[in-house]
Amino acid sequence: MIEIKNLKKSFGELQVLSDINLTIGKGKIYGLVGRSGAGKSTLLRCINGLENYEEGSLIVDGIEVKSLNNEAAREFRREIGMIFQQFSLLSRMTVYENIALPMKCWKYSKKQIDKKVKELVELVGISDKLYAKPREISGGQKQRVAIARALSMNPKILLCDEATSSLDPQTAKSIISLINKINNELGITIVIVTHQMSVLRSACEEISILENGRIAEAGVVEEIFLRQPKALRNLIGVKDL
Ligand code: ADP
Ligand code: MG
Repeated sequence: MIEIKNLKKSFGELQVLSDINLTIGKGKIYGLVGRSGAGKSTLLRCINGLENYEEGSLIVDGIEVKSLNNEAAREFRREIGMIFQQFSLLSRMTVYENIALPMKCWKYSKKQIDKKVKELVELVGISDKLYAKPREISGGQKQRVAIARALSMNPKILLCDEATSSLDPQTAKSIISLINKINNELGITIVIVTHQMSVLRSACEEISILENGRIAEAGVVEEIFLRQPKALRNLIGVKDL
C-alpha cells in the first residue's frame, strides 16, 4: 500500500528525512517509533501528500505522490484519514457536526451524511454523545470522534500521530482495540506513530525505528524487542515497559 524509496526531505538547510526506505503492506498495522524530532510526523505528512520531498519516491496505492497536481492531491488525501494526539476537533461543533465536516466539504447529501454519521458513531462506540460538544466528553471519547471523522470518507489508510499519547493507559488500550477492530473489519492499512511500547506490542506486526531522519532498525516487532531491547528502551523511555 505504501512504498518509500530513498526519500529525502529538508526544511531549508535542515535535512529532516534522509534516505528513507519502507514498505507497508495492504491491510497491515505498521509502527513508527523514534525520539521527538526524529522526523515521524514529517514522514506521515509526506505520505499524506501534505509535505513535498526533494528526492526519492513515495508510492501510495500505486500513485507517486509527488506527481499529483492540486486537484489530484485533494482527491488523494480524501482516501487517507489522519488522527492526532490533540484530537483536533472543532470546539463549537457537536460530535455529529465534527464527524460530518469532511462529507459536507465534499458536498454529500444530508441523507447520506446522516446515515454515515450514525454508522460511524455506532462503530466507534459513542452513539449516546452525538449532540455533545467536545468539552462535554472525555479524552478517549474525543479520540473516538476524531477516528469517526477520519473514517468518514472511507479511507484506504489511517495515519495515527501519537493518537494515544495524551490518554491514560486504560483509555489508550481501548483506543488501540478500536484501531485493531477497524483494521480487522474494514481492512484499512494503518500507520501508528507512538512512544508507547504497549501500543507497538498490542497493535503492530512490523515497526521501524527512526533516528535523525534515518531508519535505524526495521522489522517484526517481537524480533526487534529481542534484538534491541536497550535501543528501544532508550528511544521510547522505560515508563511504559
Ligand atoms: P517528530 O514527529 O519525530 O517529533 P517532526 O517530523 O515533527 O519530528 O520534526 C522533525 C524535524 O523537522 C524537527 O527538527 C522539526 O523541528 C523540523 N520541522 C518539522 N516541521 C517543520 C517545518 N514546517 N519547518 C521547519 N522545520 C520543521
Ligand atoms: Mg511528531
